[in-house]
Amino acid sequence: MKIGILGAGISGLSVGRLLSDQFEIEILERQPIHGGIARTKEVDGVAYHPVGGHCFNSKNQEVLDFVFNNVLSKDKWHNITRNAVIKYQNEEISYPIEFAVKEIHHFDEQFALDIVRDFLNADDDGVYPNLEDWFRKKFGNTLSEKYFLPYNEKIWNRPPREMSHAWVEGKLPIPNKKSFFNSLIGKEADKMPHSSFFYPDTNNQNTFIDALAEGLNITYNFDIKDVKFDSETKKWTVNGDKVYDIIISTLPLNVLPKIIDNAKPEILAAADKLRYNKVTTMLWKTQGTDRTWTYVPEKDNFFHRYIHIGNFYAPSKNYSITEVVGHKTQEEMIENGKKDSFLIEPVAYNVSEHAYVVFDENYDSCTSTIKDYLEELTNIYTLGRFGEWQYYNMDICIEKSIALASKIKSSVKKAL
Ligand SMILES: Cc1cc2nc3c(=O)[nH]c(=O)nc-3n(C[C@H](O)[C@H](O)[C@H](O)COP(=O)(O)OP(=O)(O)OC[C@H]3O[C@@H](n4cnc5c(N)ncnc54)[C@H](O)[C@@H]3O)c2cc1C
Repeated sequence: MKIGILGAGISGLSVGRLLSDQFEIEILERQPIHGGIARTKEVDGVAYHPVGGHCFNSKNQEVLDFVFNNVLSKDKWHNITRNAVIKYQNEEISYPIEFAVKEIHHFDEQFALDIVRDFLNADDDGVYPNLEDWFRKKFGNTLSEKYFLPYNEKIWNRPPREMSHAWVEGKLPIPNKKSFFNSLIGKEADKMPHSSFFYPDTNNQNTFIDALAEGLNITYNFDIKDVKFDSETKKWTVNGDKVYDIIISTLPLNVLPKIIDNAKPEILAAADKLRYNKVTTMLWKTQGTDRTWTYVPEKDNFFHRYIHIGNFYAPSKNYSITEVVGHKTQEEMIENGKKDSFLIEPVAYNVSEHAYVVFDENYDSCTSTIKDYLEELTNIYTLGRFGEWQYYNMDICIEKSIALASKIKSSVKKAL
């Protein structure tokens, strides 16, 4: 039995590795190298993450075991404590902001008071027509209006009231009134989903990615343009000549229906309605900082996030990546970077293709239309951040790969 995997990002590589003990697999990849959006480029002697800055951790022991026992052993990583701040009114506030009321009180007493009053009075009835509503009901009006709404408008490029809250669970620490109160009286706050994280000792994420790809059958420079099912032979053919029993696609869900032979017009229409954002990043030489991330909600700062990538390395180096949603020019990045004396010299620049899927009003209906259609087809599965059209980090891509590999193994066993 031969399985064709479309795309050699974290998802394609993980599922390929998990299936290769029982099946013949081939991974088809458009780029001359594996790793997808998590891959780094070496620039100026450091690893630049053209699409964001990638660190690894997981709450799922199975994922940690897979990575540390089968891919790159734990002694080849170092662990870094997350030290994230929010830049607001030229002050730095610890992340998550709802546990930093005491810090806020030092520079703006009224702001701190408003946060506490609104947080404790927020009426969370469990009904969230849109993302703005979700923030207001979870965090109260002050935190929503001063931080969550402007920050989210920047990262999604659209007002939160035009979005769904579907992606939020697991992505943000969600305090309840008790944990908020405990933080006010100085009890230790709940841990963030990723309060610390791992980065390879080589100071380059590619060490992990290369270890994941090791020994896999990958065909590079292969641009998938056509995927066709033959109902007589019950086999799939890719680009007219590669034949498989099963297909796993990590290609974006808005693209896949367009390359499957004979997809119905309503499926193509649903694919056209799926929205995603690109990100533009720039690597900079910087002044020193002990932060790992700085989040910037205010509109007058062009960037929404600084990833202090130099602090992912051990020993650390003075490099940071600035990130903006959408396609920005190199000149815009440099001109806006000049406004911040922390950023000393631009070193590298990139504009991504898919970076963030947008959870807008069409998200639920269009993803279901396409996924229902794919379910009706035989032996084709979707996987990954863009394959499933989700807000997955690498660990969730691996978790989903483990689940899919086990599903395929048990369904093949049953059929025998
Ligand atoms: C800004 C940003 C920061 C992030 N930071 C983190 C982080 O710190 N930690 C973390 O765990 N995760 C992070 N992530 C998420 C992480 O990048 C993804 O979860 C993961 O890399 C997705 O892998 P994937 O294989 O599903 O998708 P992809 O990486 O997109 O892989 C899909 C592959 O398919 C290939 N492909 C596409 N079309 C074709 C075609 N027609 N023919 C052939 N090949 C094709 C692509 O070239 C690519 O290699 C971040 C994401 C972003 C955008």
